Amino acid sequence: MQYDVIVIGSGPGGYVAAIRCAQLGLKTAIVEKYNTLGGTCLNVGCIPSKALLDSSEHYHNAAHAFKTHGINLENLSIDFGQMVKRKKEVVDANTSGISYLMKKNKIDTHFGVGSFKDKNTITVKKADGTETEITGKNVIIATGSKPSALPFLKIDKKRIITSTEALNLTEVPKHLVLIGGGVIGLELGSVYARLGAKVSVIEFMDGIIPTMDKALGRELQKVLTKLGMEFYLGHKVTGATVTGDEVTVTFDTPRGEKKELKGDYCLVAVGRVAYTDGLGLDKIGITVEERGRKITVNDHLETSVKGVYAIGDVIKGAMLAHKAEDEGTLVAEQIAGQKPHIDYNLIPGVVYTWPEVAAVGQTEEQLKAAGVKYKTGSFPFKASGRARASGDLDGFVKVLADAATDEILGVHMIGPRAADMIAEAVVAMEYRASAEDISRMSHAHPTYTEAMREACLAATENRAIHI
Ligand code: FAD
Ligand code: NAD
Repeated sequence: MQYDVIVIGSGPGGYVAAIRCAQLGLKTAIVEKYNTLGGTCLNVGCIPSKALLDSSEHYHNAAHAFKTHGINLENLSIDFGQMVKRKKEVVDANTSGISYLMKKNKIDTHFGVGSFKDKNTITVKKADGTETEITGKNVIIATGSKPSALPFLKIDKKRIITSTEALNLTEVPKHLVLIGGGVIGLELGSVYARLGAKVSVIEFMDGIIPTMDKALGRELQKVLTKLGMEFYLGHKVTGATVTGDEVTVTFDTPRGEKKELKGDYCLVAVGRVAYTDGLGLDKIGITVEERGRKITVNDHLETSVKGVYAIGDVIKGAMLAHKAEDEGTLVAEQIAGQKPHIDYNLIPGVVYTWPEVAAVGQTEEQLKAAGVKYKTGSFPFKASGRARASGDLDGFVKVLADAATDEILGVHMIGPRAADMIAEAVVAMEYRASAEDISRMSHAHPTYTEAMREACLAATENRAIHI
């Protein structure tokens, strides 16, 4: 079994790399340790979380928004078992879709843990203990990441849980205590808050989604507070203990006072770390960074060993499915002799709360720190006809443009369907559009996208029409 390329890991980085290699005529194999393909994203990440977010959003609207639309429902109730079953069906449909794509592209799938024997030989250890060896001229490591833990806190996976267990609960928590006000915490916190749980968020930094433009975190906190979530910002968790069905989380306030919260579940969502266990990297001398255990790669995503590449969550940069996919494509095309390029500044970030949060490019904080002179244009959704019609009045679009050239440097939005709307900003920035360029382009009325045009108008000459 000799291949041009062996891909280890079948998440969005790995399976996209494998498909692109096959499209380019390279004989390709993919190795996956679990018995379904798709990695974190399809099995325990993006897809199941979005399925539960959609289901819980329907329930929340039926319970709270339908009435204002003149729709009355009686005896509304949640069949949580059905909600989780549907989520599983969505996951199964997606993962079997990847199996279909592997067959269609004539990619050999090897189930088992892949580890390096030497730089061209991968031993695949199957669940039954048997081993096979495959060889490849090139190897792409796409082994992803796993949840970070806190050294002083034991995750028992029953009451003190990670996102993986939070996606597979058998009941809606009464009180979910969340450690970490980042993407996972706020998405899964939203799911359970909508379904009736009390949700308390303990965040170490002084704002939620702290790596995004500060204005987004402030607005999102306001909306999630209306949903009933409570926030302890700037608080430091010191421990969590389980007694029966109860979890007690202890933490220090910014003034150093000791506090505790009792809940029935505690979700630890404090980031993820690169996953390289069992790969045998030391056998071939691949180096990993001390912090986060990420595999070190050069600008071509090649490791310290020639012909061995790494992509996705296991290397530096944002831990996002589309970033992993882009890197998979890049490495495949390089192996085939092409010269592809990724502009990391233009990888959008999205939080799938409602309203959704989406951003691309530089934040105001980054521009200030770099001493770049910029202008700002904002447009609130409460001034959008489309948002009035749907009743989604929270949020805004904020455009940051270069003060001298008007080139768009960053777009930050929170509002209805922002996850889809951010694509316009990515295209604009890829083609180095100015705010005026966008403000002169026709946007269908009434759509949420008009808010993007209005924010650009506001940035251009402060001449938004509807505010
Ligand atoms: P992974 O998807 O982690 O895949 C790695 C694969 O490698 C796994 O299948 C693993 O079993 C396999 N593997 C590991 N070691 C070996 C080995 N030695 N041999 C064989 N196989 C091995 N990102 C977004 O962009 N949008 C979202 O909405 C989003 N939502 C998320 C929600 C949650 C709850 C979580 C946890 C993550 C979410 N992410 C989201 C992040 C996203 O899932 C990751 O960025 C993405 O999956 C990374 O892809 P990857 O290919 O690098 O690795
Ligand atoms: P995150 O980095 O988004 O958020 C972690 C949060 O925990 C941060 O706000 C951090 O300040 C806080 N924190 C860290 N240590 C803490 C402590 N001791 N006490 C209190 N707070 C603490 O990480 P995450 O939410 O775990 O998500 C992991 C990764 O998965 C992210 O990198 C993200 O990109 C990816 N993801 C993406 C999406 C999406 O694209 N929609 C969804 C889910 C996950």
